[in-house]
Amino acid sequence: MTHISSDPRQRDSKSPDFFPDSALAAKYNRPGPRYTSYPTAPQFREDFPKQQFLKQMLHGDDKKTAPLSLYVHLPFCHDICYYCGCNKIVTRDKNAASDYLRRLRTEIEMQSRLVGATRPVTQMHWGGGTPNHLDNAEITELMHTLASHFRLLDKGYREYSIEIDPRVVSCDTIALLKGLGFNRISLGIQDFDPLVQKAINRIQPYQQIAPLVECIRTNDFRSLSFDLIYGLPHQDRYTIEETLRKVIALRPDRIACYSYAHLPERFNSQRAIDRLSLPPAEEKLLLQHIISHRLQEAGYHHIGMDHYVLPEDELAIAQQEGRLQRNFQGYSLDMAEDLLGLGVSAISNLGDFYTQNERNLAAYYSHLDRGESPVYRGCQINPQDKLRRFIIMSLICDLALDITECNRRFDIDFNSEFQHQIDTLRDMESDELLLISRDRIEIQAGGRPFLRNICMVFDAYLGADPTDIRSARFSATI
Ligand code: SF4
Repeated sequence: MTHISSDPRQRDSKSPDFFPDSALAAKYNRPGPRYTSYPTAPQFREDFPKQQFLKQMLHGDDKKTAPLSLYVHLPFCHDICYYCGCNKIVTRDKNAASDYLRRLRTEIEMQSRLVGATRPVTQMHWGGGTPNHLDNAEITELMHTLASHFRLLDKGYREYSIEIDPRVVSCDTIALLKGLGFNRISLGIQDFDPLVQKAINRIQPYQQIAPLVECIRTNDFRSLSFDLIYGLPHQDRYTIEETLRKVIALRPDRIACYSYAHLPERFNSQRAIDRLSLPPAEEKLLLQHIISHRLQEAGYHHIGMDHYVLPEDELAIAQQEGRLQRNFQGYSLDMAEDLLGLGVSAISNLGDFYTQNERNLAAYYSHLDRGESPVYRGCQINPQDKLRRFIIMSLICDLALDITECNRRFDIDFNSEFQHQIDTLRDMESDELLLISRDRIEIQAGGRPFLRNICMVFDAYLGADPTDIRSARFSATI
């Protein structure tokens, strides 16, 4: 175990050698989607063509053999973290989990009949909430239920991952997870600074995390990921340097650095955060620069918008080979076209549809108790959506758009079809965010913090003017 101590405010910290461009921060800091899907979730409608969706699922030719990705949403948490924007239920009631698992089992049975029980599950992710709010017996039972209704793999390349709250997990549970087939663990770290942890109501000192990391390593997981958040209360250039020093000492294989979205009008718990303690956009941009610089200096590759991975990690190789995808869990390998989401609020991407389950627990239960699908809204992806999704996902994953490939794939003339968008991008080109040629759009190093803004130019649902986002409910792009 590596021992690191010290309070950054006591340390004789040097000022980092980075200077944020305040003009760019002011110009581009506006609400925008994170593009974990396209069309994005606000486009999902209750009156989507559900019968057509069911028909496509039941008569899909590749249903028996095509790889499948599973997402399982487990919404319960022990305590509230003030920054949280997830769909979760804070409870200490143990019956809550067993009631939920009963309904989840019904949904698993229903969906395996619809989507296909024999398709190889190449990727599976348990997220939440806190998946390890379940006890060891419940975790085991859920995995057995999934294994009896889907074709889980025990050999060959597969990614089976689970999000873990480090405050409420034992080394016994880690060993159990490995035994059940998980090969990836992601730990919610967020920040190591004690003042920041207090302000977000998530106390988990480094001394608690380091032995857990050692336990995960001992159990030989293929990969360990850390989730970090920047833009939290009391974070500044000095605290982030100290957090990064500790993170680098523990050397996780992957690090996801998310920007905190302060939307107290949408998420009640965020009202407990003092707005004045939040770093302003300019400082957030600086934090992003520091994170990127320090992690790359430590040998990590910067992947997409906000992920960092060790050079030997599959994501680093996938980015070089153009096999990276972005979905509701961030960046991952493109290993299955269809994603089935299970559990309250879970989103699926099946065939030409996005669908989402009921977000309200009582409504989710009530559908399943009546033997009905818990899907309550969705969207059919039309050919124009597919074209724009290709463009947006190329930019956000590969940091480039191959215009020739886009023309070939969609039988279009990109430069005339998107003339208006190219004109808009010219302004970004003059800000050195990207380069445009006849055959390619290439994101420059300075454009990475503004990837969401660049993608917004191609989002047909934001209106003809990409700055017209008054009706949308998105977080700020910085
Ligand atoms: S951040 Fe995670 S553990 Fe905290 S309340 Fe949200 S879902 Fe629960």
